[in-house]
Amino acid sequence: MSRYTGPSCKKCKKVNQKMFLKGTKCYTNCLVDRAQKAAKEKRFSSGPRNKMSDYGKHLREKQIARLTAQVTEAQFKRFFAKAAKDKGQTGAALLRFLEVRLDNITRRLGFAVSLKAARQMVNHGHIKVNGRVLSIPSAMLKPGDEVTINAKAADIPLVKQGIEHAEKTTQRPSFLTWVPGTKTGKLVRWPDRAESSISVNEQLIVEYYSK
Ligand code: ZN
Repeated sequence: MSRYTGPSCKKCKKVNQKMFLKGTKCYTNCLVDRAQKAAKEKRFSSGPRNKMSDYGKHLREKQIARLTAQVTEAQFKRFFAKAAKDKGQTGAALLRFLEVRLDNITRRLGFAVSLKAARQMVNHGHIKVNGRVLSIPSAMLKPGDEVTINAKAADIPLVKQGIEHAEKTTQRPSFLTWVPGTKTGKLVRWPDRAESSISVNEQLIVEYYSK
């Protein structure tokens, strides 16, 4: 898999948008801020946005969505193909499907502060869905699915931290429910557009793929 392993905020800089790939790093030390500050000092307008072609604008939205979700090109295309078959609007379906990926739901339940950490927990078999280990981070959940910690992994430091964080957190979107003390959360409905973790103009992505 062609997963990018370099400093995350280099990717933010490239698309000129904070994507919070390392949890909170974009709040404190994102290259986007530094680039914008430098640009201001030089009295230049910042970023590649100004000189971008029409194709570039479409490509950029696709990249922001793909990089924020941290999926490969091939996986992203599969999500898009599924969204294109959906009865509703393709762009909205795409964001909805990306939102309910197992790694993202693991993060949004509070088991991990970053998508990267969440994906590691899933990859290592620490997460169960409906009572069974599911170790595919890009697996799509559906309303009714229950996500919990594999009891066998409860003593692993990363998992322990995750459980503690999940028990403490109060910032869960309302498409998820959490039963305190059970280490279990549930996807109760499809996320709305406004609840998406990905901040893009999804219509541009739809146009990108229909060119
Ligand atoms: Zn950043």
